[in-house]
Amino acid sequence: TTKTTQTDGLTVERTLVLVKPDGVRRGLSGEVLRRIEAKGYTLAAVELVQATPELLERHYAEHVDKPFFRALVDFMLSGPTLAVVAEGNRVIEGFRSLAGATDPTTAAPGTIRGDLGRAWDGPVMQNIVHGSDSPESASREIGLWFPAL
Ligand code: UDP
Repeated sequence: TTKTTQTDGLTVERTLVLVKPDGVRRGLSGEVLRRIEAKGYTLAAVELVQATPELLERHYAEHVDKPFFRALVDFMLSGPTLAVVAEGNRVIEGFRSLAGATDPTTAAPGTIRGDLGRAWDGPVMQNIVHGSDSPESASREIGLWFPAL
């Protein structure tokens, strides 16, 4: 479901990006895709998905015991999510950089979260996007959201 090829110093990777329900609701899907493409990454897959509790419990497995977990799942169930597989040289790190820090209040201006995210709206940070944090996470998450890839 994912690949890393190293030739001529390039590390071509795939990452899972999600435009979360706040981003879709606010009409920011195109803006997120624009920033991914403007950076030079390519889109390998794009699909609007209504998440299920089962999918989210697997996607956010590392957070099941956190105090914000239930509110995070409810937020992620509140509307459709745009699931995206982006591809390019060091795209895993690169998209995390485009996204900015988790908390939109302190995310740097120029980043998706810094420019567009809301600090808090209820108990969950409505920070527009998710991006895989490692090659292992990318492979696992792409398999969850795009089982056919
Ligand atoms: N989150 C939250 N409160 C917290 C920590 C995380 O609402 O104190 C939410 C937020 O939407 C975040 C997601 O849970 O994007 C996953 O958290 P993680 O620490 O993995 O941050 P990310 O990798 O998305 O920056």
